[in-house]
Amino acid sequence: MLKHVMEHAPLEACGLLAGKNGRVEKVIPVRNQAQSPVRFVMDPYEQLQAFEWIDSQGLELIGIFHSHPAGPERISATDIREAAYEVVHLVWSFFDGAWKMRGFWIQKGQADEVILSIEKR
Ligand SMILES: [Zn+2]
Repeated sequence: MLKHVMEHAPLEACGLLAGKNGRVEKVIPVRNQAQSPVRFVMDPYEQLQAFEWIDSQGLELIGIFHSHPAGPERISATDIREAAYEVVHLVWSFFDGAWKMRGFWIQKGQADEVILSIEKR
């Protein structure tokens, strides 16, 4: 995920997280159709292909990630407004010389930060 995010900076990068029972098994990068440093719009064709692949593997969509190469360090008002899926939204932001990831659950126009756990495999 971070590699994809870093390769696309200063543009925003985005993608989907597939897995089961809240556990990510696969990171699927998706092209940012907006090609913008401050916005992301998932390429609809790639997104559809990703959804089909997730289904074919018996997995579920459990998260969406995107980056804020120029901040903010949290989810933006636009992100909250445009959130179309009830999944965890991960935001990678570049802040103080390092990339950081935070997760948010968006519901009814409100974002609450969630605790993420990262396992070695
Ligand atoms: Zn954003």
